Amino acid sequence: MKALVYDAPKQFSVKEIPTPEPKAGEVRIKVLMTGVCGTDIHLHNGTFIGKYPLIPGHEMVGIIDKLGEGVNDEYTHFHVGQQVTMNGNFACGECESCKNGKPLFCEQLTCLGCNGDGAYAEYMVVPKKLVYDAEGIDPELVVFTEPLACTVHGMDVLQPKVGSDILLIGAGPTSAMFAQLLIHGGAGNVTVAASKEFKLKLLKEYGVNDTLLIDRSDSKKTAEILKKHRPNGYDIVIDATGAPSIQELCTGLVKKGGTVMFYGVGKQNSPIKLDAYDVFERELTIKGSFAQVNSFAGALAMLRSGRIRTDGLITHKFKLEEWQEVLNTHASDSSAHKLVVIP
Ligand SMILES: [Zn+2]
Ligand SMILES: [Zn+2]
Repeated sequence: MKALVYDAPKQFSVKEIPTPEPKAGEVRIKVLMTGVCGTDIHLHNGTFIGKYPLIPGHEMVGIIDKLGEGVNDEYTHFHVGQQVTMNGNFACGECESCKNGKPLFCEQLTCLGCNGDGAYAEYMVVPKKLVYDAEGIDPELVVFTEPLACTVHGMDVLQPKVGSDILLIGAGPTSAMFAQLLIHGGAGNVTVAASKEFKLKLLKEYGVNDTLLIDRSDSKKTAEILKKHRPNGYDIVIDATGAPSIQELCTGLVKKGGTVMFYGVGKQNSPIKLDAYDVFERELTIKGSFAQVNSFAGALAMLRSGRIRTDGLITHKFKLEEWQEVLNTHASDSSAHKLVVIP
């Protein structure tokens, strides 16, 4: 089979490698489509939890092609030809965090597509516990299951009070889904600020109340625009940019008793300035949300019901061999929203 293989950060090629055989309890999936994620770019640059050599790709939809021995029992009913997706994140179950009921903080968290082989390949072998039925849903929707599951976890962490006035900064594909979850979760008003007009326009169609065009590279001007929109502050501000210059603005944009959430994947070892006295005096709450391990079922339910819209998000489709173009498009094509690879 063909697969995109990274021998080390930045050193990739599309190779012909043996098609993997499913062992007992495993399922082989023929990959239909894999979503390109910011994480893939971090893996390209070697700035994430990657283990090389690596086949990246963790946002996948495919068709079961072969069942390993003993896959089906009284709880599991998979069949060849079934459309599925896979949750690539799984915890060891043995470390202190796992034993404390916090699998996301597992010291040996496996993420297929980050530190184990993923879905930029024609086939992928996955333990059955990670496979989710996705029959009857458009594959172009199913490919969003993983990023949507991450936002579902974000909602679980945020627990917004019904009626909250919320600002979300950033309008990438994940933000587009997070904004809709906030609306369905009872937000009083959702404002999204971002630097691409076409992304904001799409969010208006998805039901966002207010959109603000900002220039992320000019944080002073951005602060002015956001403050002018709500001189008394928001109840909740979510940073989905990961940019330190934007993260630094967040506590100054919330009301007394407000909450800031850092959701965007930022740069490691890039501390920001924070006015601790302001956090103390105004009793602010700061939260973080990183990945997910058990939010797939909820995400699939919302995609199946049409509760979460993704129409208009996929702007570019590539073949495996076009990986360099994927990287170029992600870096510099201003019309790019969600990119997908069809192996
Ligand atoms: Zn992702
Ligand atoms: Zn663990």
